[in-house]
Amino acid sequence: MRAIRRFTVRTVLPDALAALDELALNLRWAWHEPTRHLFAGIDPERWSAVHGDPVKLLGGLSPERLDELTADPEFVARVAELAESLRQYRHEERWYQVEAHRREEAGEAALPASIAYFSAEFGITGALPQYSGGLGILAGDHLKSASDLGAPIVGVGLLYGAGYFRQSLTRDGWQHETYPLLDPDNLPLSLVREADETPSKISLGLPGGRTLYAQIWRADVGRVPLLLLDSNVPENDDLARRVTDRLYGGTSEHRLHQELLLGMGGVKALRVHSRLTGAPEPEVYHCNEGHAGFLGIERIRELIASAGMSFPAAAEAVRAGTVFTTHTPVPAGIDRFGADLIGEHFGGGNELPGIGVEDVLALGRETYAGGDPGVFNMAVMGLRLAKRANGVAQLHGRVSRGMFASLWPGFDVSEVPITSVTNGVHADTWTDPAFTQAQAEYFTADELATGEGWYRSEGGIDNATLWQLRRQMRSRLVEDARARVRKSWLKRGASPAELGWVDSVLDPDVLTIGFARRVPTYKRLTLMLRDMDRLKRLLTDPDRPVQIVVAGKSHPADEQGIRLIQKLVQFADAEDVRHRIVFLPNYDIEMAQTLYPGCDVWLNNPLRPLEACGTSGMKAALNGSLNLSILDGWWDEMYDGENGWAIPTADGVDDHEHRDDLEAAALYDLLEHTVAPRFYDRTDGLPVHWLENVRHTLATLGPKVQATRMVREYITELYTPTAEFYRALNAGNREAAAELADWKARVHEAWPGVRVDHVESEGLHEAVKVGDHVTVKAFVSLGALRPEDVEVQVNYGRVGEDDEIDDFGTAELSLTDTYEGGRYQFSRVFTLAQAGPFGYAVRIVPRHERLAGHTELGLVTTAS
Ligand SMILES: *Cc1c(COP(=O)(O)O)cnc(C)c1O
Repeated sequence: MRAIRRFTVRTVLPDALAALDELALNLRWAWHEPTRHLFAGIDPERWSAVHGDPVKLLGGLSPERLDELTADPEFVARVAELAESLRQYRHEERWYQVEAHRREEAGEAALPASIAYFSAEFGITGALPQYSGGLGILAGDHLKSASDLGAPIVGVGLLYGAGYFRQSLTRDGWQHETYPLLDPDNLPLSLVREADETPSKISLGLPGGRTLYAQIWRADVGRVPLLLLDSNVPENDDLARRVTDRLYGGTSEHRLHQELLLGMGGVKALRVHSRLTGAPEPEVYHCNEGHAGFLGIERIRELIASAGMSFPAAAEAVRAGTVFTTHTPVPAGIDRFGADLIGEHFGGGNELPGIGVEDVLALGRETYAGGDPGVFNMAVMGLRLAKRANGVAQLHGRVSRGMFASLWPGFDVSEVPITSVTNGVHADTWTDPAFTQAQAEYFTADELATGEGWYRSEGGIDNATLWQLRRQMRSRLVEDARARVRKSWLKRGASPAELGWVDSVLDPDVLTIGFARRVPTYKRLTLMLRDMDRLKRLLTDPDRPVQIVVAGKSHPADEQGIRLIQKLVQFADAEDVRHRIVFLPNYDIEMAQTLYPGCDVWLNNPLRPLEACGTSGMKAALNGSLNLSILDGWWDEMYDGENGWAIPTADGVDDHEHRDDLEAAALYDLLEHTVAPRFYDRTDGLPVHWLENVRHTLATLGPKVQATRMVREYITELYTPTAEFYRALNAGNREAAAELADWKARVHEAWPGVRVDHVESEGLHEAVKVGDHVTVKAFVSLGALRPEDVEVQVNYGRVGEDDEIDDFGTAELSLTDTYEGGRYQFSRVFTLAQAGPFGYAVRIVPRHERLAGHTELGLVTTAS
């Protein structure tokens, strides 16, 4: 593939309509229905032909149409009105500003001045296809919700010349991939330029004396700027131009170059952005998954170059302002490079000043039992360079703590410093516009926020109206699916004359089940095919039929996934079921926006616990679809018995085939005996019980699954505490960072001399009872450390059968005596609060006010 530069000549709008450009270039239109409506009205046919992309729409407007619009005072006034509403949205006080004032008055920690959010993909709108699946959509929803909240976030990513692939099918159901080239000049982007109009550039050194250059495109996501690096510039050699050619393609080296550009280049782009716009430098850097991990190296390099810091001191200053989010409980999903490849890029003549190749390698080395010494692990680097880390649902937090526990040997798994923030979705993007409008009509603002409107008995949305709205969404899906099936069959080589049957594909009154997601094996696309005859009976039941809409792309290198798609397509091609089950090629945002609202049931059957969170079910819930899912990801914490169904899992059954059989049977049972009967059980034409479940879902899940809830949690639980550390370590000449680095070095060196010599208890006898007092005394040696450098702790709790302390609490002992030779006594009086077998253990951990917690150094000494 040659790297071609194309040019698009943009339409010059007359002055009266100049604001249309503003409206098209700010991506708020992606979720602001009135703005979309305005664009659609300019030329409805073209609007649909360009898939709702205002930049392309305006690009193709004829001068005659422009004249007509300019002469239409109503249209001109509407443009001005919407442009004003956008300006107001961008500048008014929103939640963040109100919260900032509140904190100031209350004397609480200040919110971050700015937050940088790094991600390898961003799924914001179909018009900017820079995502492959959930990770990118989540990043897009994060930015949109940050914008709605008024949070000062800047997104950083790459602009891929071809994005992810487009999927079509061959005659026999094999996935076919194409990579249509995008023309940045025809995308809702503007090129970042210097004052003299020349494009701003950043550069990185590559091995062999090569240099990688990139220019920076800016997308405006409401209030939030998103900077996208693009290596397709004339300064680069051919190879370097192709670094940003496509998402997740190519060799390991190609991918490393993408990640170096994203992380290190991304920080450089932020500096350009701040220099040109006066935006404050970020206090918090959020690394969304490991891909952007090199952002830490670049910031360390900056501090060494500008402030003459040592590597360890700079690393402390950088860590203080970093948040890392892990997104996968599948070890194979973690990004790893050969250590030799990393060595080539950070050593062998390509060293960064003050950063030895060993300094870099040590960050990503799998130093734990079972780790591969030849590998550089991006998640490990992410965790080592972050002050706070999290998974993306409660269950995923637990699984991640277990997965990375070997990085914190000696600590209980529950103490591994990875918390969780459950993902959310951007409501205005993912709720059917008519459904959003209906709620806005009937409910007060307060009812919209709390979900309470759904329980209003007078003047609310009654059952008949709700059912009507649900049918309308289902009908839209049926129509869309028919068009897609027809198009797909024409591509697969069918002639229009053979396709009469497509007009009766799906039925707007039949129970509709959706299943769409990427196709890695653990998501089990074909679980529903486990017993094909039984599925056929469910699809063709004369009284209570179900219909299924399936979609999903497989990674092009994953042949197993492609085979699963083929199996499903071949099943759906059969004449006896093709009116009840369809596979729609090229799952993307545009399809998803019709698919989620149109489904009555959203099906999710991953192999538990491998789904980190999953967000498609949340989007379905916002539209009143009921979830039918394995208790994995978000559903594990949000299923309540009334908002859908939990498919029982055969946890612990190691034989995968057998486990699939068991779980598939449970799925069929639920569909046949519970889901379908409830859907078809009607009173006066209405499925009353079903609608109760829908109402309950909308009222209770509606507020919880929103990305504004998620972003607020990130701000209060992770960004703000991290910003406090950042300020403390980066104040003045960053003496505090140097001091912390020295202290850590001292503690590491002295730790072998730290011991619990002896533990005594007073008051523990055969007949202790609740309310009794027990004194625990620990006699410890600290070697070269001072008592204030450590915390002597007692872990206590119920003792289980395995002689382990369960659900333990931790309490700190106080220094009560000092002896010669670095020996001390620490003690504490406990009141026994609970009956039952009780145990305790004493241990020593490092203590410093600038640590995120006592696990930060990974050091612990236990009484032997
Ligand atoms: C939401 C979404 C996903 C992610 O869905 P999961 O449930 O997390 O697998 C993937 N692709 C598109 C187009 C989406 O809208």
